[in-house]
Amino acid sequence: MPVETKTTCPYCGVGCGVIARVDDDGAVSVRGDPEHPANLGRLCSKGSALGETLDLDGRLLHPEIGGRRAGWNEALDLVARRFADTIAEHGPDSVAFYVSGQLLTEDYYVANKLMKGFIGSANIDTNSRLCMSSSVAGHRRAFGADTVPGTYEDIELADLVILTGSNLAWCHPVIYQRLVAAKAARPGMKVVVIDPRRTMTSDIADLHLAIRPDGDVALFNGLLAHLAKGTAIDENYVAAHTAGFADAFAAASTMTFPALMERTGLGASELRRFFGLFERTEKVVTCYSQGVNQSSSGTDKVNAIINCHLATGRIGRPGMGPFSLTGQPNAMGGREVGGLANMLAAHMAIENPEDRDRVQRFWSSPTIATRPGLKAVDLFQAVADGRVKALWIMATNPVVSMPDAGAVEAAIKACPFVVVSDMLTTTDTARHAHVLLPSAGWGEKDGTVTNSERRISRQRPFLAAPGEARADWWQLAEVARRMDFPGFDFASPADIFAEHARLSAFENDGSRDFDIGAHAGIASAGYDAMVPFQWPQPAGKTKATTRFFAKGGFYHPDGKARFVTVVPDETDRTSAAYPFTLNTGRIRDQWHTMTRTGKSARLSAHIAEPFVEIHPRDAVDAGIGNAGLVEIESPRGKAIVRALVTERQARGSVFVPMHWNDQFAAKARIDALVPPLTDRVSGQPASKNVAVAMRPFPASAYGFAVAASRPAAPAADYWAIAKAEGGWRFELAFATPAKDWTAWCRTTFALPDDVEPLGYADHRTGDLRLAFFDGDRLLAALFLAPEPVAVARSWTVSQLTAAHGDLRTRFTLVAGRPGADRPDPGATVCSCFSVGVNQIVAAVRGGCHTVEGIGKELNAGTNCGSCRAEIRGIIDGCRAAAAE
Ligand code: SF4
Repeated sequence: MPVETKTTCPYCGVGCGVIARVDDDGAVSVRGDPEHPANLGRLCSKGSALGETLDLDGRLLHPEIGGRRAGWNEALDLVARRFADTIAEHGPDSVAFYVSGQLLTEDYYVANKLMKGFIGSANIDTNSRLCMSSSVAGHRRAFGADTVPGTYEDIELADLVILTGSNLAWCHPVIYQRLVAAKAARPGMKVVVIDPRRTMTSDIADLHLAIRPDGDVALFNGLLAHLAKGTAIDENYVAAHTAGFADAFAAASTMTFPALMERTGLGASELRRFFGLFERTEKVVTCYSQGVNQSSSGTDKVNAIINCHLATGRIGRPGMGPFSLTGQPNAMGGREVGGLANMLAAHMAIENPEDRDRVQRFWSSPTIATRPGLKAVDLFQAVADGRVKALWIMATNPVVSMPDAGAVEAAIKACPFVVVSDMLTTTDTARHAHVLLPSAGWGEKDGTVTNSERRISRQRPFLAAPGEARADWWQLAEVARRMDFPGFDFASPADIFAEHARLSAFENDGSRDFDIGAHAGIASAGYDAMVPFQWPQPAGKTKATTRFFAKGGFYHPDGKARFVTVVPDETDRTSAAYPFTLNTGRIRDQWHTMTRTGKSARLSAHIAEPFVEIHPRDAVDAGIGNAGLVEIESPRGKAIVRALVTERQARGSVFVPMHWNDQFAAKARIDALVPPLTDRVSGQPASKNVAVAMRPFPASAYGFAVAASRPAAPAADYWAIAKAEGGWRFELAFATPAKDWTAWCRTTFALPDDVEPLGYADHRTGDLRLAFFDGDRLLAALFLAPEPVAVARSWTVSQLTAAHGDLRTRFTLVAGRPGADRPDPGATVCSCFSVGVNQIVAAVRGGCHTVEGIGKELNAGTNCGSCRAEIRGIIDGCRAAAAE
């Protein structure tokens, strides 16, 4: 009998409920949980493909020490001994944990307890530092606590939704779908998108403000000054519940309107329209994400936004408020347990002696960290200069994701003792570990996560952990026990959650926002049956208070919020040598460093290689043609990526996704170009405003290849590899062509010697095609040309699973052109139904002129809806082409 389990998606901060079904034959399928309040049955393309990422390819199945298999006891003894010895010799601050928003709250709780309460250092930081720490800092400055005031429902109830620094359509797709549905139901609802790029999210924008990089503080200061001149200020709210308005307003008012236009790069009419919309609309929600947070002025941006909501009293009521959208599935859970180096636990402050005393008494711990620890960028600098001598990295891949990633890799390589807990042996970070500990993955893990709207949901196991993989909390508790620390005898994640809940309620009495005391007595049965709930849930109350601050009640000692005086960051980071601004970000169908989504052929078919978006005029000036290769360089490093020339990109700026790593591309770790520049308050790196130069990459030969099995890194100056049905696909480029392409193929694709190639070479055009068959099965095919190769890629990839029993089909493959009976679907647009761009164009030409019509004809866009904006763009493009 198939077994169904309710769990939670492990990707973004939306925190969608998932029903995982395991059939009798072990096959896993997923669907959205219609009862989960975050998604009400929806899933995006990534969530829908979760079942395709569960294979054991590359899984770490046993502990390893120095590359050899070891037992758990030996590995844990070694970790405990090396950490204890390092602490004994060099003090508690000589060790560090670098953890992750992928950890479950229970993992995070044990890691934080061990480091802050027993080792006695606060050197535990998390990749959430790269994601939303500016929001945390902004909340704490304004509210006195890290409180997200609103709920997802507010986004649907608002009359004006402002999306700033958020490509919601691709990064929080289910919230985007909820917003699209709300706007369709209430067409009067307005959406403003503030982003230097015209992203897919702009598809539903009534107003798109293509703001200058880091122009947000100026924009929201300008808004505050504008509001103060009219009637939108809620003077009663400001007087009763806030402090500091006069100073914040005075600072905001110093900027003239021309200066505001200059700093934001926006026109007078755009600014007036935006200000007027905000002024006139009571129900306003301002959503913000990495475009706000990942900045050297990220915390000021957050406070500039919050200032406008406080001034108008538009906070904590239905359809109103500032709303931080977190990137990771459990960034919020990490914040709740104190997984950041500058927080303690249960939203208590490390710099507050009473909080420290309270937590130490609760834990009965021998010590407590007395000052904030090293934030991520500082932490890896301390590893580099030898202050940190033992490092434990859990569930994250800093060699790819950290700024100055090359220096981070060098630091990890030089660190005397590195432990990596991960699911995979093959990450760019795992290859540098002295001790590798196999962790349970999604589908095997048991615990809780908290989404962006403070909703705690269960991640439940539905698969047995393979090999000797174990939960991260168990690994931490075992090391703690071996270091002779009491208080780590947890029998289950339910035990840990109950302790976490007790700490949240300990001497709280409403003085702290985070209180889930209602769950303090939870046991295994209750934990197993837990339904998603929003905090706070103090003991004795059955219903959560779903919003904060409508009537004040802030967490500063006087109960008032603080307006924070902020001034725009004037720094222009570009120079004559590095004249472009690099903005890094995400794409629709990949997650973080591709360690999981890179396993899905369906997801990899959407965008199969790293790219740079360039404005057409910048491309012409730089001599870069569409689909050519571009070398991008900063003082920190270089990358080679494909050119995507588009007017969506503003002049002077370029965009490169952050996902690609050394497992999937030759040179596309874009974070290696990002300097270790951070926000002075939050320590969050500025990943979206990096000065770079770019030039065409001088390739003399370009290639496209497919192969049935994955080779080692191809011998090519540029390569990008992506999973495909039945094998792998490759994009290639060579500065100097190989002397013998047949030999190159044999080596690269590990082909048997007795397999002869079928192919042709056109010496006039320089084209070359080679294909290798084993019986009727295609093993590999290579297409080469002096220009970017024009071959029907989707069709060619489909040949990996086709039979090639006769010469005609084999020659058709070598020609790279499908016959009329097998049209090329083109690059995948709809991942759920594998519908390509050529199919959509054909449907438009056949008379389908709406997204709904395309859905009826091809099914595209009718499942998760993540591609609907792209479909609309294709329809518009066809119309524009027809009108020319
Ligand atoms: Fe997962 Fe997509 Fe939901 Fe995010 S929006 S939690 S990635 S299904």
